[in-house]
Amino acid sequence: MKIICVGRNYIDHAKELGNDVPTEPVIFMKPKSALIQAHTPFYYPEFTNELHYECELVVRICKNGKYIQERHAPNYYNAITVGIDFTARDIQQELKKKGLPWEKAKAFDNSAAIGKFIEMTPAINKKNINFSFLKNDEIVQKGNSGEMIFSIDFLVSHISNYFSLNIGDVIFTGTPAGVGECSVGDVLEALMENESLLKIDVK
Ligand code: ZN
Repeated sequence: MKIICVGRNYIDHAKELGNDVPTEPVIFMKPKSALIQAHTPFYYPEFTNELHYECELVVRICKNGKYIQERHAPNYYNAITVGIDFTARDIQQELKKKGLPWEKAKAFDNSAAIGKFIEMTPAINKKNINFSFLKNDEIVQKGNSGEMIFSIDFLVSHISNYFSLNIGDVIFTGTPAGVGECSVGDVLEALMENESLLKIDVK
């Protein structure tokens, strides 16, 4: 499987990091080794002094495809949840300054946390999914899929023009404003429609 991530998909978040609002999706990837395995502790990586959380909606691909048309995109994913795109922000800023790739800041071991998947049903309105993120029981991020610059269906279609999508791949669809630092001892929790789907202790 592969983990495809979208950067700057919410106007407020692009602005908070001083980036332009993109005219086409910003795409990067994480390897399978970035996935946090269930029941394994999350340790603060030793190579960063500024570990950020980014809470995002994540969809799971259920059908192989390439050059998927946007109107057919809903057939290619069948589950959705919330995840955390952990980012070594200090390293990312250095790499960005030099125009270098982001992998060291974004694709390291355990940089991708994925919550319990909820099956997509017709009852889920993809343009109005609320999600939120709590640090030590305090809400620090709130988002709604309707605020995305590029919709989930558009992203699936766009991504598939460059990368074949395969069953089991996941797409992190971008983070809303409110990203920030986490520290050892923090308890991180992500909710979709007020249901807690992911909880992580930073060790
Ligand atoms: Zn992200």
